[in-house]
Amino acid sequence: NPAKIKYHPINDACWSKGQEVPYLALATTLEEIEATSARLKMIEILSNYLRSVILLTPEDLLPSIYLCLNQLAPAYHSLELGMAETYIMKAVGQCTGRTLAQMKSAAKATGDLGLVAEQARATQRTMFTPAPLTLRKVFAALKEVAQATGHASVNKKIGKIQSLYVACRHSEARYLIRSLEGKLRIGLAEQSVLQALACACAASPPAGPSAGAVDVSAEMSPEKYKARVEEFALTIKTTYCECPNYDALVPVVLQYGVERLPEHCRLSPGVPLKPMLAHPSRGVADLFARFDGENFTCEWKYDGERAQIHVPGNGAPDVGRASIFSRNQENNTSKYPDVIGRLPKLLKASVHSCVLDCEAVAYDKQSGQILPFQILSTRKRKDARESEIKVQVCVFVFDLLYLNGEPLVRRPLDARRALLRDHFNEVEGEWQFARGRDCSSTEEVELELSEALRGSCEGLMVKALEGERARYDIARRSHNWLKLKKDYLEGCGDSIDAVVIGGFHGRGKRVGLYGGFLLACYDPETDAYQSLCKIGTGFSDEDLRTLSATLQSHAIDAPRNYYRYESSLAPDVWFAAASVWEVRCADLSLSPAHHAALGLVDREKGISLRFPRFVRVRDDKTPEQATSSRQIADLYLAQDQVKNTMKRPSHAD
Ligand code: ATP
Repeated sequence: NPAKIKYHPINDACWSKGQEVPYLALATTLEEIEATSARLKMIEILSNYLRSVILLTPEDLLPSIYLCLNQLAPAYHSLELGMAETYIMKAVGQCTGRTLAQMKSAAKATGDLGLVAEQARATQRTMFTPAPLTLRKVFAALKEVAQATGHASVNKKIGKIQSLYVACRHSEARYLIRSLEGKLRIGLAEQSVLQALACACAASPPAGPSAGAVDVSAEMSPEKYKARVEEFALTIKTTYCECPNYDALVPVVLQYGVERLPEHCRLSPGVPLKPMLAHPSRGVADLFARFDGENFTCEWKYDGERAQIHVPGNGAPDVGRASIFSRNQENNTSKYPDVIGRLPKLLKASVHSCVLDCEAVAYDKQSGQILPFQILSTRKRKDARESEIKVQVCVFVFDLLYLNGEPLVRRPLDARRALLRDHFNEVEGEWQFARGRDCSSTEEVELELSEALRGSCEGLMVKALEGERARYDIARRSHNWLKLKKDYLEGCGDSIDAVVIGGFHGRGKRVGLYGGFLLACYDPETDAYQSLCKIGTGFSDEDLRTLSATLQSHAIDAPRNYYRYESSLAPDVWFAAASVWEVRCADLSLSPAHHAALGLVDREKGISLRFPRFVRVRDDKTPEQATSSRQIADLYLAQDQVKNTMKRPSHAD
């Protein structure tokens, strides 16, 4: 914590003002971050680097941030890295005179292709020294690699990788290769990057119109700096929630300063925001304890796919430019041409732009029946032709986040709901408002829950109606939305979304397929996958055939060095963390064999699922969005049995 924070150029930056940032500057920063496990230290290291970039080469701030996050564009552009390992191995092997088999065995020994590539590059002799890589060049090349499609593109990609690889110095090769693999593995979460940006901006001379108005040689007291960091971090993080797009955010920071972000980057149709999420509850009594005298509503929890519908417009809605985004901000517009086609029926004449939060549910119009999620998942996922669509959907609208130029997220739910009902039409079997009732007694909640279950829903979403608590908490898993699923009647309060990291060869009827799997939860603190349970039930024969085929493409030679498991649980085949499955279980128990949530509840034991069974594949979740270690610990602790044990004094007391 420096005694005084000065506005001054960073002396130890390895490039000078106006010069393109060398890729080595970023690689060295990532290397330092990788070497520490303390989050605050990581933020400090990154903010120093970003500060140098802001002062010396501000044009490189945007690619710097993207590369730290291993992203190339906003998530909704679906431009992703994550090349097949074999191609990367081929590229590196060809440059360094190693066969594919040699590359494979080296990768198996270290569990990290990035390190293998770095070591191979260090011992490689070249006839001439290529020009040092710049950050901009690497970013542009990675974009080209990600954009290239089709069969013929493979050689082009390999060529591109090789031209970068031969120019790599020191740790550059490690991070280049890891970027291509789709995972940096340095434990840097997005929130830390945003915090580092806030620290860097707070220690930089003011941007925009006030630039020059401040004596840049002046010093700032640590107290003033701390207050400025807090204010900037709050502004950057809230703005990013409403407008998760660095392409929009970073230029504003540089041109006008952090203070003016909210007026330039607001929630707007076309840019998907991260949705509000709910906490599980443990039954009706739990709801009343949480809402303690406040009014709440119990909406039916439909079992389909989240659909955030954006209609831009100025004076009149521009339905032709409407988009539908998934829970993950992926663009699902081409999956739902039928829904887009029906938009005019939903919008009353008073609507010229809006953002709606909805659930798209498979629906049988003739019988007026909601169909199970499994039916919805058979719909084509992209470029569906309306005439070929077999599974019809009804969209259940449950929230209105933006209307006619105004973000509504800070207004309470009762006001948003009133606007929704005033400005939008219901159309039987096509557009319906989420059913529900404002409840004030246990009997009312229980009645609504049983009606929701009879209506083929998963349970209830219980939401605060009035006041501060009833705002739409963008990107947050909030206690102001509680889910009451039928799972709570059966055992554990919620289903769990786990990552498949290994497979066991099947026997008997399952020979030739995988018969069981090793599942893990994700720990964002350490960026690791911790084993959670073995699973072998809940699969139909057909499920096992399709899942085995999909998983085959994720098979890797050795476990990743960020997998945490006991060797006695090692599966026959390891998988790269890619598939997320929803599973249910009877309950959660402490386990000496599994590593999930290790240290959170018990110093030496992890938590494991008892009697887990497969429910479905969660295509709409990335592995990092799987149930986290903290959530596993919370679910474990919320179990009545555990609560009772913890209340009882132990013998030692
Ligand atoms: P999580 O990350 O919370 O586990 P999830 O995607 O696994 O999220 P659930 O926990 O089952 O989903 O519940 C939240 C989801 O329920 C929302 O993302 C939304 O898709 C769906 N949903 C259905 N009906 C409603 C409703 N009335 N209000 C809010 N969400 C609803």
